[in-house]
Amino acid sequence: MKENNELLSACAIRVPKSGTLKMATLAKELEAQGEKIIHLGIGKPNFNTPKEIIEAAHKAMLDGKTGYTSSKGILPLRKKIAEIHTKETGVEVNPNENIIVTPGAKASLFAGLVSLLNPEDNMIVISPYWPSYEGITDFIGATTKSVPAHYGDFGFPSEQIKEAIDKKSKVLLINSPSNPTGAIYNLDSLKFISDISQDNNIHIITDEIYKTIVFSGEFHQYLSVSQSLEKTLVIDGLSKSHAMTGWRIGYSIGSKELISAMNRIQQNVSTCVNTPTQYAAIKALDLEEPTKKMVAEYKERRDKALELIDHCEYLSCNKPEGAFYLFIKYEGSIDSEELAVRILRDKGVCVTAGAVFGVSENYLRISLASDLASILEGIKRINDFLTNH
Ligand code: PMP
Repeated sequence: MKENNELLSACAIRVPKSGTLKMATLAKELEAQGEKIIHLGIGKPNFNTPKEIIEAAHKAMLDGKTGYTSSKGILPLRKKIAEIHTKETGVEVNPNENIIVTPGAKASLFAGLVSLLNPEDNMIVISPYWPSYEGITDFIGATTKSVPAHYGDFGFPSEQIKEAIDKKSKVLLINSPSNPTGAIYNLDSLKFISDISQDNNIHIITDEIYKTIVFSGEFHQYLSVSQSLEKTLVIDGLSKSHAMTGWRIGYSIGSKELISAMNRIQQNVSTCVNTPTQYAAIKALDLEEPTKKMVAEYKERRDKALELIDHCEYLSCNKPEGAFYLFIKYEGSIDSEELAVRILRDKGVCVTAGAVFGVSENYLRISLASDLASILEGIKRINDFLTNH
């Protein structure tokens, strides 16, 4: 058997393992040994997909919608997406040219980054950031340049972004509401980004997968500010808004050239999103009530969790404005990766280390996509652990 380094391609070796999945695997091992684990690691809504959406998929299958579709996605779905985004942003989105439906937002990000970045380019991202951005960039062999958000409130670091841009900067990737911090960028920040894009000929990838999960303040879509698809790639999907993580459905909106390149990639990788899911997505995009109910629950969990954290000597947390995570600062000398493993082994709580999101400071992320009792018990146990170490 060849050594990995001889067997595998350089790009396969470059791709890092997922930090959240690593913890989930360890949690499974402990569960197999009979341990009871509180899961606050993965961003998977603990709600069932609304019944109407499941029924729409069922009906599609019974109606024989079980074959391949256009690789960009079925036209009625693209039309629905175009209609919604045109209405919300005021930008004309052509369903035939500007949209591709992909197996999850992740596949949109992959095809988008592969279409834009060469190995000599760099992508600028604001830390803390969702790790797959860097994972995909590593796969391409390009460089991730991270600019820290303002610690404390995770505010938008305009000046630092300006300083980070160089001739090799091809993409600036933003994620608002942010995973893991829940920060939302205001209109001034989005205008700043749009100017940066124009002045430096940089593509903006705007990951808005949490745009419907907003608790306070105003959320603005970047496209409503840039008012052009020429250098904007919107990433969105239904995993979070409609509790559809396992269905694998996301989409991108971008320029005709970019969407066409992404489509060529998709044709060679997955062909299309599974057909019943695409019909279910049309139904989902008509439903607002289930999302509102889930957001109200996440907000209650956020508020109760923050109240508890206020009473925990070793923990503090900025109030997230959206998404469904708490990025918790802790006191102590244990680094976040070691702490996450020790809390899992000693206290039976699965969380994600701050280091996974590109920060070296003392942070842990917990997901609010779990029931309230587990969230509160999990936080208590984390604080207990820190009290004794
Ligand atoms: N972007 C962000 C910021 C995410 O947190 C996630 C999922 N955790 C995704 C994209 C990908 O979502 P999906 O592929 O399930 O649509």
